[in-house]
Amino acid sequence: MIDCFVGIGSNLNEPLTQVSQAIDSLSQLAHCSLLKHSPWYRSSPIGPGDQEDYINGVAHLQTSLSAAALLEALQVIEAQHLRVRHQRWGPRTLDLDILLFGQQVIDPPNLTVPHKQIFKRNFVLQPLADIAPGLLFPDGSSIVSRLHSCPANALKKL
Ligand code: ATP
Ligand code: MG
Ligand code: MG
Repeated sequence: MIDCFVGIGSNLNEPLTQVSQAIDSLSQLAHCSLLKHSPWYRSSPIGPGDQEDYINGVAHLQTSLSAAALLEALQVIEAQHLRVRHQRWGPRTLDLDILLFGQQVIDPPNLTVPHKQIFKRNFVLQPLADIAPGLLFPDGSSIVSRLHSCPANALKKL
């Protein structure tokens, strides 16, 4: 089994309901067990235009799936939440990103792990630190040092 961290975000159609349902869906995923999830945070949008605030959190899973198969499974859950991709970083009902997949480094095109924006996003690093305070990244850096050097965008714990 591989330890995997999944980033969860929503800013459309009752985001708190969306992310709570996402936890239910993750807990029912075949070949996966959900160990825990972080508290939820409210964050300001990074994408284009006038968007609602986001609700963000992180889930810790163990899985025997490959990273590619897990990505497919996450995209099925996103689709069940009626996610429609209109524009990059536009508003969305649910975003499920693979942040870390064990200590694997996975290169593009389809999947980049660790997630390519992870070190710039405190709305990802903070909930990750909450549930895995001793975490080390594949490059040997620690979650504590990464959080320390991350831009401090407004973040409110719910
Ligand atoms: P960002 O990647 O900046 O968080 P996003 O989550 O809004 O943006 P999406 O529209 O959800 O981007 O995903 C676009 C594509 O990113 C997906 O189709 C997927 O193939 C690819 N992708 C690459 N790496 C990952 C990853 N680690 N987790 C999820 N999707 C990824
Ligand atoms: Mg994302
Ligand atoms: Mg995504």
